[in-house]
Amino acid sequence: MTLPFFPPDLFDDEQDTLLDIVESIGLAPEQKFILGAHTTRFEEVVRDSVGAADAIACGSGTAALTLVLRAMGVGPGDEVVVPAFGCAPLAAAPAMLGAVPVFADVDPWTTVADPAEVDRLISPRTKVVMPAHMFSVMADMPAIRAIADAAGVRLLEDAAVAQGGVLGGTPAGLWGDAGVYSFVQVKTFGMPGEGGMVVTADPELGAMVRMLRNHGQDGRTRFVHHHIGYNSRFDEIMAAFQLHRFATLPHRLERRARIGEYYTERFGELAGCGVLAPPPAVDGRCYYVYSLLVERRDALRDHLAGQGIGSHVYYPAALPRQPAFAPYARGGAWPAAEAAARRTLAIPIYPHLTDAQVEHIADAVCRFAKES
Ligand SMILES: *Cc1c(COP(=O)(O)O)cnc(C)c1O
Repeated sequence: MTLPFFPPDLFDDEQDTLLDIVESIGLAPEQKFILGAHTTRFEEVVRDSVGAADAIACGSGTAALTLVLRAMGVGPGDEVVVPAFGCAPLAAAPAMLGAVPVFADVDPWTTVADPAEVDRLISPRTKVVMPAHMFSVMADMPAIRAIADAAGVRLLEDAAVAQGGVLGGTPAGLWGDAGVYSFVQVKTFGMPGEGGMVVTADPELGAMVRMLRNHGQDGRTRFVHHHIGYNSRFDEIMAAFQLHRFATLPHRLERRARIGEYYTERFGELAGCGVLAPPPAVDGRCYYVYSLLVERRDALRDHLAGQGIGSHVYYPAALPRQPAFAPYARGGAWPAAEAAARRTLAIPIYPHLTDAQVEHIADAVCRFAKES
């Protein structure tokens, strides 16, 4: 049995649909390939699925973060509090706007931003707090929402990996003044292309993002540029494809959750053997990636590879330890983020794994932990 970490057959069931869509949009008389009726409909469907006031499709999850930060007025001299462990755009998006990413250390078990650290790092220059949901665990949004409100700063929720997740009855994406989803291939609602979405309960913020994604135009009058904007538009073929698949998203998320819950149950007893699974819970889970914290991480990686099981390291360095972001590190210390970077190892969780394959993976992890 060979189980790659990134499955090569992600869209096999949907190839015919995709080809039909390419043909119908490609041959349609209106020849509309970006920001057409399919994109509008896709925005409405996502907006209504979480009860947002507006949803704006754009070029990528990274672009979505940038558009929202710009719409919130972030610029030179401002600070944006971000997690010290996570993907590059968390630091790059504020930095690109001339702002300073301020790195908050993370919770050593869940690896999401530690609210006490976020609180400690708020300064008079803080403009936005930008937590991210990580792997399978949503950030502590009630605590961070309270911190942002008390400080009078904006909250941008990076829900790139958490579309469909719910915490305390509120959908991922709606805890923030704005939230962001990504549709890049590997994400839970990934597609064969680049794309992202901003959701917000704030119509004014939504309108600003909408203008910024298309060169600062308001969508009514062409060639009137109200703001210096971006080209961050959405592809009609991808919109039609995602609309077609939207009804099956809950089913796929459910399957991921079943696999994740099974892993967590199997691995509960391994904590004393140097393999730590995420804390068991139903609320606030998203199961994009199932990541373990492993003392002998590289040995487990080799052990799994020996049995044909792929695994992956997200992320091998804390953000302030990356060469690009070191100028923002300013002599700080992020012990939990650095420990996570040394120990994290993700195992396969894609929804088309069979029960037998999932059991095989869990057996291999358990054998490693107990025999070494
Ligand atoms: C994937 C990801 C992004 C970026 O999304 P892209 O669509 O790849 O630009 C941003 N934040 C987090 C937490 C992500 O996992």
